[in-house]
Amino acid sequence: MPPVQKLEAGIHHFQANYFASNRDLFQQLSDHGQRPETLFITCCDSRVVPNLITSAAPGELFIVRNVGNIVPSVARGVLGGVSAAIEYAVEVLQVDNIIVCGHTNCGAIDAILHPERVAHLPLLSRWLGESSRIPTLIEERYGDLDGEARMTAAVQENVLVQLENLRSFDFVARRMDAGTLKISGWVFKIATGDVFGYDPTSEQFLQLGSAEMERPALSSRPPPMPSTRE
Ligand SMILES: [Zn+2]
Repeated sequence: MPPVQKLEAGIHHFQANYFASNRDLFQQLSDHGQRPETLFITCCDSRVVPNLITSAAPGELFIVRNVGNIVPSVARGVLGGVSAAIEYAVEVLQVDNIIVCGHTNCGAIDAILHPERVAHLPLLSRWLGESSRIPTLIEERYGDLDGEARMTAAVQENVLVQLENLRSFDFVARRMDAGTLKISGWVFKIATGDVFGYDPTSEQFLQLGSAEMERPALSSRPPPMPSTRE
């Protein structure tokens, strides 16, 4: 089936099933507007489906997606859709929660570590330049790692850099200091469906959604954190 027809069949399926069973929810969202509690910032990657992995209903997640789940830092002076969406979510929608969610096997992270591979793509290169300090950071702290371990370290560090960038927005820092906004870093592991959240106490990404006391870490070694990451 051609892609568009497949999607059209999907619309029919949605309307006959999910929508039909949740008609009241959509009516309520239409009548009263959205009040999402969470701003969810993640990668464009088609394998990362925020509502699916969190079982969140329509109206619960305000989602910003871009290549590499990057938050432009105010210091770099980058304006654009991502910054505008963050401002709207924090200042107008008054979300309580911001999650930056990276993922394993991320092509953007590969390109950040190897900028020469995307040198022929000027727009992508410029965008990924936002995370240009990642390769040096990885070399310094994880120089002995290679292959998948190095990639995983870079995925984690990239998420942590974006949390720092979030704080560079004064309206984010203000609400965090007031205790009305929480920011978290997550990594979705595609192959297993597991989600890991950054735990500042152990300085590791630990498995979320597990009832067990023992929560496995995504990587065997914690990323060393500067003191600003609390
Ligand atoms: Zn990605």
